[in-house]
Amino acid sequence: MFEPALLVLHSPAKPAARAADPVEPVFTQHDTAAPVANALDLGITRGDGIFETITVINGMPQALDAHLKRFARSARMLELPEPDAAAWKHTLLAAIDSRELVPEAFVKLLYSRGIEGSGQPTGWVWLAESGDFTKARTEGIRVVLLDRGYASTVEQTSPWLLQGAKTLSYAVNRAALREAERRGADDVIFVSSDGYLLEGPTSTVVLKLDDRFVTPRTTLGILPGTTQESIFEIARVNGFETAYEVLTPADLRRADAAWLVSSVRNAAPVNAVDGAPRAIDAELTEAINAGLASRTV
Ligand code: PLP
Repeated sequence: MFEPALLVLHSPAKPAARAADPVEPVFTQHDTAAPVANALDLGITRGDGIFETITVINGMPQALDAHLKRFARSARMLELPEPDAAAWKHTLLAAIDSRELVPEAFVKLLYSRGIEGSGQPTGWVWLAESGDFTKARTEGIRVVLLDRGYASTVEQTSPWLLQGAKTLSYAVNRAALREAERRGADDVIFVSSDGYLLEGPTSTVVLKLDDRFVTPRTTLGILPGTTQESIFEIARVNGFETAYEVLTPADLRRADAAWLVSSVRNAAPVNAVDGAPRAIDAELTEAINAGLASRTV
């Protein structure tokens, strides 16, 4: 039985100066059932913080540098103190080392603004075994298109809406998934108010259009996906072209294959859009997921 692990960072933000040979311990391991956050922590009271979820295959965190880079980017967007990448890396590796190897686990980094007025951010790392995503990966998922209500220019016109940051405020994303369930679907693709494909609540859209792999441009107010980036690398090695474009629901319908891709679940082929079945490419999906599972960085 794989026991989850919970490690709390002592100093999650990057220090102004680092001792040449740090002697202070970086984290404390906590009982996973014990409360760790203060009731006034802004991460809890306002969802004012950021997170990352990283897949761990046989003890190897996947796309770690890309996740840490995105963590720093989200912090900048929320004007949080720069996370101490070395301390986070040290802590998440310690969490992994503290448990037995399993084929698929995930590690979550959580970083909040801390108690209002304290100026002291809080941070913790959570490690657990992943669920079984075989069905989604092999049979596919039914998606519905939902209007996000923001125009595709939102990142440029209204950066305070934090579109494209991985914030702790995911209540909207959870509500969208409940709406998908009400409509008899498994997942969602958000569409901008001016009609462009954006992303899933926890995933990136990847289409195969003729012999090219395409994904929505990240300037549309969406999260740059680490899984999509890895898939593009795998695709290029195998001779496919890749591109970031402005895509529409018509592109989704005419694509040879479509996936929602994310850390942990990896590539889930889309087998229906708004109730209309669409083809999946099981062989290609298997090759993509095998490629993702064999990443060594
Ligand atoms: N888009 C959103 C909104 C997400 O929350 C996520 C991941 O949780 C993704 C895309 C996919 O990112 P990644 O492939 O790095 O997990």
